[in-house]
Amino acid sequence: MLPRPWDIALTGKDIRRKPGDRHTPMPLYDQHVHSRHSFDSGTEPAANVEQAIALGLAGLTFTEHFDAHPDDWETCTYDHGACSASIESLRNRFGQTVFVGQGIEVCYQPDRMDFILDFLESCEFDLVILSAHYFGAEAVHRRTNWAGIDAVEGTRRYLETVLDAVRFCERLHNDRGRVFDVLGHLDVVKRYTQRFLGVSVVARFGDLLDDILATCLRADVIPEVNTSTLRQDLDEPMPGPDTIARYIRLGGSAVSLGSDAHLPASVGADFDRAVTSLRSTGINQAAVFKKRERLIIPFD
Ligand SMILES: [Zn+2]
Ligand SMILES: [Zn+2]
Repeated sequence: MLPRPWDIALTGKDIRRKPGDRHTPMPLYDQHVHSRHSFDSGTEPAANVEQAIALGLAGLTFTEHFDAHPDDWETCTYDHGACSASIESLRNRFGQTVFVGQGIEVCYQPDRMDFILDFLESCEFDLVILSAHYFGAEAVHRRTNWAGIDAVEGTRRYLETVLDAVRFCERLHNDRGRVFDVLGHLDVVKRYTQRFLGVSVVARFGDLLDDILATCLRADVIPEVNTSTLRQDLDEPMPGPDTIARYIRLGGSAVSLGSDAHLPASVGADFDRAVTSLRSTGINQAAVFKKRERLIIPFD
């Protein structure tokens, strides 16, 4: 049997696209994709894979929502058996052409981490993302939670929650090794300050950003560059180039690329723009996760 793309990558062989060869994948992986296995997407998983193939991506990893907060748990549709069956069927159908990864996007919930860790231990993944969707005790994406909070205060609260999350990862890493591979959309708060208040003030929090990024490095957690803001109200991904420059100054050298697609057309969206920006900032490679193993793959 021919080796599949992920086997080739694991052996470190060159999987770069050759001129004129449409079917040799570009070494880009979209490591943040949702489907109907998430509560907020109705997308058939196969449609996402077809889009990844059409774009010539080397792979995509499904990272369905796992939201354990009591307010979210009732609507969280995560079903590991159903996700695994879906991935297996996609690998049988498309696996010779593209890597199809099984991941998960875990919402950081400090009061539920024991439950979350027990769950993660019972399942196998290629990649585990930890994302903060709350600032303090409230969901950051609900407009009603912004009553009486200005952009600066909301951004500070959110970034402090992210710092808590990565400090948790660091403690875990010291105790038992890497449990979370990637930090999702580390400044997603700017999407909501932009949407609700018309402004993004993340740049004012350089010290907090440095603290988050330095903790990521110690915790062995890779920050994601999430391109979903590029198809919304902002002209930079999450995080933007200024934060990536901070990451490089602290010693960071690779990021995870994710579209956060909830629709097939969004898979791999704006990756060319994100990669151009990353290159100009000084990042030339992505961290790609397969069976929790981290591979460092140059952009070209
Ligand atoms: Zn998220
Ligand atoms: Zn997501």
